Amino acid sequence: MMATSDAVRARTVLPVDVARRVMWAFVIANVAVVEGLFLSAGEGKNDVLTVAKWFGLHAALLMMFQLLLVARLPWLDRRIGMDRLTVWHRWIGFTLLWTVLTHATLVVLGYAKLDDASMAKTFAALSGVPASLLGMLAAAVIVVIAAVSTRSVRRRLRYEVWHGLHLLLYVALGLSFVHQLQETTTFTSSAFAEAYWWGLWLFAFGALLVGRLALPLWRNAYHRFRVVAVVPESLNVVSVYVTGRHLDAFPARAGQFCIWRFPGHNSWWTANPFSLSAAPGGQGLRLTAKAVGDTSAGLRNVPVGSRAFVEGPYGAFTSLHRSRPGTLLIAGGVGITPVRAMLEEQTGGDVVVLYRVRSEADAVLLNEVRHLVELRGGRLHLLVGRTGENGVPPLGPSTLHQLVPDLTERDVYVCGPPAMTTAVLAALRELRVPARQVHSERFGMA
Ligand SMILES: Cc1cc2nc3c(=O)[nH]c(=O)nc-3n(C[C@H](O)[C@H](O)[C@H](O)COP(=O)(O)OP(=O)(O)OC[C@H]3O[C@@H](n4cnc5c(N)ncnc54)[C@H](O)[C@@H]3O)c2cc1C
Repeated sequence: MMATSDAVRARTVLPVDVARRVMWAFVIANVAVVEGLFLSAGEGKNDVLTVAKWFGLHAALLMMFQLLLVARLPWLDRRIGMDRLTVWHRWIGFTLLWTVLTHATLVVLGYAKLDDASMAKTFAALSGVPASLLGMLAAAVIVVIAAVSTRSVRRRLRYEVWHGLHLLLYVALGLSFVHQLQETTTFTSSAFAEAYWWGLWLFAFGALLVGRLALPLWRNAYHRFRVVAVVPESLNVVSVYVTGRHLDAFPARAGQFCIWRFPGHNSWWTANPFSLSAAPGGQGLRLTAKAVGDTSAGLRNVPVGSRAFVEGPYGAFTSLHRSRPGTLLIAGGVGITPVRAMLEEQTGGDVVVLYRVRSEADAVLLNEVRHLVELRGGRLHLLVGRTGENGVPPLGPSTLHQLVPDLTERDVYVCGPPAMTTAVLAALRELRVPARQVHSERFGMA
């Protein structure tokens, strides 16, 4: 036990820091190469077209970076987490939108200046040129994707509808890729430029194909997951037990989640994220789901023996990021699932669990949590009540400090619905818990 604590204490550079540095180094190196190519490829037909070219090159770079962020590469995902990578993807997506629009506007402006024509006339003329038309179509698709991804529109759409529209991104990618091949000025300005662009596109598409297609297909073919039991935990919560071949080789850690499909029971495109609610061992995997919509409610009826298609494991909500010997685990409602798994894995150091629920009947997996906390010699506080009762925030700074006075000395893991997680993270900031000690998982879209 002592050895684990010392190992945790001695770790000064966290895996997340390493991954961030690698990402930054990658970005800076590629931006430097692109600037070099831009300068060496020579100017455009006029000043405006030169600047347009600069924006076009950077739009291509942003697209490739987007592919890497959504490729779900295990090394990055385990260190940075899918939620944070998705937030970056979102911001880079909007940066891409403005870069593409600026590029398109400057191209029209540049040619209008060159031909001494109006912008409308130039736009109409350019839309008759195949390479430009492809670029315009790609830009239009990017505008549509950005529009449905704004918070106000996104909130009104069902997840599946939004996701389906978001997949148009691949259409935009295809169109802009061909557009680039036809607008060859910088791409083919030298042998190095050509090799570099092809290499980068191959790398980005390769990462996407490996992370999103090859790896999940290979893992499912290798493990052949099947449902072995479906156990109701309460009126609206159910656990699904899944087994498979060679499960000791399934590289999951307690705290991670998978994206689950039950193809015989649901359609192929129905895929939902659920955390592992027990530490993954060689024996099997378990998810525990609260019924909030059709799919989660329907898990109760998944036939035993049916196939499961499991993508993942994903997420950085694991002990890989521990930097202190003591741990505080905070769960809201069904957010207890990864916390329950982590308790099973927990070795070394003192552990405190805060489990917030509306009523004791809502405290899913409570007996298991109690048992594991006892086994670890830890403390469990079950915080029962509705938000707003008594006027004191249930997980506000004063309650947290009162229950766990040494919380700044601990790693704090927070998991629950988005609103609760946001409130707890704000309280932890107010209590000055160092950011590197705070780890969170939101049970909602990033
Ligand atoms: C990382 C992560 C881990 C989770 N772990 C658990 C868990 O262990 N137990 C549990 O009960 N719940 C968990 N959830 C929440 C769970 O994924 C949703 O409750 C479930 O997908 C709802 O699906 P539905 O079709 O039944 O409901 P719907 O009414 O269709 O969806 C309700 C909401 O759930 C979210 N959602 C639906 N489908 C997806 C999807 N494919 N990807 C992302 N979000 C989606 C959307 O925000 C949607 O608005 C987790 C969520 C995330 C992001």
